[in-house]
Amino acid sequence: MNFKKKISESIISWYHINKRDLPWRKTKNSYKIWVSEIVLQQTKISQGINYYNEFISKFPNLESLAKSSDSEILKVWQGLGYYNRALNMLKNAKILYNEKKKFPKSYDKLIKLKGIGEYTASAISSICNNEKKAVLDGNVYRVLSRVFNISKPINKLSSQKIFKQKAEELLPENNFGDYNQAIMDFGSIQCKPMNPKCNICVIVKYCKSYELQNIRSRPRKIKNQKKIKLRHLNYLFICDKNYIYLQKRKNFDIWKNLYELPLIETNETIENELLKLSIQNKFKIKKINSPLLSKKIIHKLSHQKLNICFWKLEGKAMNFFYNKDFIRAHKSEIIKYPFPKPISKYLNEHLIK
Ligand code: SF4
Repeated sequence: MNFKKKISESIISWYHINKRDLPWRKTKNSYKIWVSEIVLQQTKISQGINYYNEFISKFPNLESLAKSSDSEILKVWQGLGYYNRALNMLKNAKILYNEKKKFPKSYDKLIKLKGIGEYTASAISSICNNEKKAVLDGNVYRVLSRVFNISKPINKLSSQKIFKQKAEELLPENNFGDYNQAIMDFGSIQCKPMNPKCNICVIVKYCKSYELQNIRSRPRKIKNQKKIKLRHLNYLFICDKNYIYLQKRKNFDIWKNLYELPLIETNETIENELLKLSIQNKFKIKKINSPLLSKKIIHKLSHQKLNICFWKLEGKAMNFFYNKDFIRAHKSEIIKYPFPKPISKYLNEHLIK
């Protein structure tokens, strides 16, 4: 038996003893595996379990998802971020359902769906269709980089071919889905980023990095100098007895299709008297009271830093906002709207008791 075969067999044996009991491991239904894969692109397993369970209980199959709305799926997705991923799931479900198709399980069909890349198509097709496809996620990159002592940076496009080839070489002769899940679990539990458990590792004798004692420098990653854009969002909390005013985000921007409070975006932080003028100009209101700063937070996204101020606006402005393009939502109905995390947190603290 060659050493690559021994590595994959050892990882599978390790998996049979150590695998985690996860809800999506009890099924080979490609729709459910798809849901789990997209959820896990957003969050850790511990948090992902709740999101997965909630998603499946609300949308147990393709039909129920296809018949839902943007707001319903975004509500379940609330807090996970990258909301376009949820909207892509909905688009796919609607297209497949209208064409009277089942959710696919073959790689060739999966890869054509919106929001499904090579990793997701490989994971679903190997698990649900036993296709010979190797997955490459962060955990697998780490294991491969250490076992084969690959010094190429894992986040460089030109390195992908090398990692892909190594991943394919390790594939066993059958049970590709089990093996893929095994190597991902192995990376996450055993060959961890910090303090891998080399002293009890089942493949230690094949691990080049262990032999060379350079585990800390594997995998290599090039530092990305991401440009972070700073934005100043001023939200108007207009509480009219038991009602507040909301709007839906429509433009191609962060949080598309989620709901928010009426917004004034400025180029820099702004004092209340200047904000008052901006509100008057934007909404063409003659007289309003000065807004009062209620809360200030910094919210970080992958490429943006949001300086968010919530302002309370009371008195004369009410009449203006009533009957305009805003949604006048009763306090008891707020729960049904999907909000970006900072807004839902603010409303929880200030409105929903
Ligand atoms: S010996 Fe250590 S670094 Fe190598 S595969 Fe095992 S846990 Fe990972």
